[in-house]
Amino acid sequence: MQNKKELKIAVMLGDGIGLEVTPVCVELLQKIVQGMDSVSLAFEELPSGAACYRDTGESLPAHTLERARKSDAILLGAMGLPDVRYPDGTEIVPQIEIREILGLFAGVRPIRPLPGLPVPLASPRTAEIDFVLIREQTEGLFAERGKTLFERPERATDVLRITREGSERLFRFSFDLACERKAAGFPGKVTLIDKANVLGTMAFFREIFDEVAEDYPGIVTERCYVDAMAMNMVKRPWDYDVMVSENMFGDILSDLAAALVGGLGVAPSADIGADNAVFQPCHGTAPDIMGTGKANPTAMILSGAMMLEWLGNRHRLPELSTAGRQLHQAVDRAFADGALLPFEFGGQCGTQAIADRVAQELDALRS
Ligand code: ATP
Repeated sequence: MQNKKELKIAVMLGDGIGLEVTPVCVELLQKIVQGMDSVSLAFEELPSGAACYRDTGESLPAHTLERARKSDAILLGAMGLPDVRYPDGTEIVPQIEIREILGLFAGVRPIRPLPGLPVPLASPRTAEIDFVLIREQTEGLFAERGKTLFERPERATDVLRITREGSERLFRFSFDLACERKAAGFPGKVTLIDKANVLGTMAFFREIFDEVAEDYPGIVTERCYVDAMAMNMVKRPWDYDVMVSENMFGDILSDLAAALVGGLGVAPSADIGADNAVFQPCHGTAPDIMGTGKANPTAMILSGAMMLEWLGNRHRLPELSTAGRQLHQAVDRAFADGALLPFEFGGQCGTQAIADRVAQELDALRS
């Protein structure tokens, strides 16, 4: 009999609705891997976040970081609470520290409307929207985060840093993804988002993009200024395949992109590095709805599906990749008839109702 591989999943529930959407995702993941021949998943819950800081004085304890580093993947809810802050007044955001410490350079945000859920754009072409926004996450305008040069009361200066190493790995990642998607029937196009007409750093970013592009002759390339992209994303989002941007621009455009498919509650994401990866929804802790049962767990569940597919590819475990695709399918089927309408979309369906329906569809798919 085949040796069964055990993969370790570090789970950080975090704060706010992270505590509500993460457990339902873990339950679905446990259900889907149950009985697999080639692999099992061992989940380990690790303390971190704003409540952890309030209770222990640490937002990312050394033990948590160490266990997370040694895990095969990290599943993260959301972190931060408005009334819990560091002494300098800034919010508790260990998820950003994790990206920096573990070198999770590529923020992967797939954008695709779910059948059955309303979207804000009226065009019939919205069903065609299917792109992935890749956000650089270790440098750019966040490079010197926490080290702002204050010259009070006159000035405050932040630094935008672009490095060749950081940009090359980002662009290679984006082009490789475009190649994979092309093999699956997508156009095979990478769009660079920058501000090369104004900032030298961005002209340098574009220069490196052009160099890397030469190694991928089968992929079409485009370059677009970030302001124009904000408009194009609303006017013709169906024209894009893979997009890649600097940290801050990607941060802003991610929320715009999530809005195209209805909201943050259906927008999953992954933060990928060479040795580690975090899978988490695009949304934050949503303090305005925490504890009400209204949080939409879909983004978290889809992030879990991305984790299964990523682990499946990385460890050559087709059973896991198939499970990831099935979880995506189960989510699509759950919403398809339009009856499962989350609170976020003006409906009456909360966290548990959505999780139950996805579990039901999963059972139907696997029976
Ligand atoms: P952060 O700065 O951590 O990203 P934020 O305050 O900008 O957080 P969110 O916490 O994501 O943003 O919340 C933004 C809005 O979206 C809130 O009104 C929140 O209730 C809503 N929201 C976010 N996630 C969900 C979800 N999963 N289900 C329903 N509504 C959500």
